[in-house]
Amino acid sequence: MTMTVIPEELQTRLNPVVVDDEVAKAKGKLLSDIKRSVYVYRVDCGGCNACEIEIFSSITPVFDVERFGIKVVPTPRHADILVYTGAVTRSMRMPALRAYEAAPDPKIIVSYGACGCTGGIFHDNYCVWGGTDKILPVDIYIPGCPPTPGQTVYGFAMALGKLAQKQHATNHFEGEGEVAPIAFPDIPYKLRVELEREARRMSGYRYGKDLVDEFMGTLENSGDVILGVNDLIAAQSDPRRAEVYEELKGILLARTIGDGHGKESSVLLSHS
Ligand code: SF4
Repeated sequence: MTMTVIPEELQTRLNPVVVDDEVAKAKGKLLSDIKRSVYVYRVDCGGCNACEIEIFSSITPVFDVERFGIKVVPTPRHADILVYTGAVTRSMRMPALRAYEAAPDPKIIVSYGACGCTGGIFHDNYCVWGGTDKILPVDIYIPGCPPTPGQTVYGFAMALGKLAQKQHATNHFEGEGEVAPIAFPDIPYKLRVELEREARRMSGYRYGKDLVDEFMGTLENSGDVILGVNDLIAAQSDPRRAEVYEELKGILLARTIGDGHGKESSVLLSHS
């Protein structure tokens, strides 16, 4: 099979827009201080339109994605999140890149539907690029043909979390001989992993990490570990957080009070 050579003019990339530091700072302030809605712009890059129908049904009153502060806007210049649907046809490549360059940083790119993720049923068509990530850096994939409104809302919520991470991201340049510190070095590795897995299983990847960090911080900083954990649980006003901590306490007790893991427990209990 001979490969078709793509004409040079179709391979041309736009000059990336360089955002001034002040502009980036102003945008970050706008989002974090004013707490306005997050704006989503949708780019149809050549699908069958069923994906668009599902996106629109997710903003109707039944699913109502706007209750999470997510609003669809008609221009990429106001957008924080760009949602790309379709397999990216040759003729939509440049408009897709233009929309990307027009949206101010920091921005999140969502690849929507089987077509957006991989090219879907059009993947081997002569006139498609085969998915959004062939031309743009994708942050979130929402698979499905088409994805349901429930999946759409879930994916948008993930995008919100990632946008917050991008806003608060800092660049760290490693110094000579610098070694990354281990988080919670006094807690045995296996126990750390077990606690983290359980917290994330119960309350999701992002919030599970926050909860388990607080739990392990309590273990490290308490003179009496069990008393510290009990105080932590008692201090929770949200029963869901208390339930997660109860579960983590159960793991801690199983590991520290005789189920054959005495070596780990002796390290941990040396605090008390
Ligand atoms: S993923 Fe499915 S529903 Fe969405 S545009 Fe492609 S073919 Fe249509």
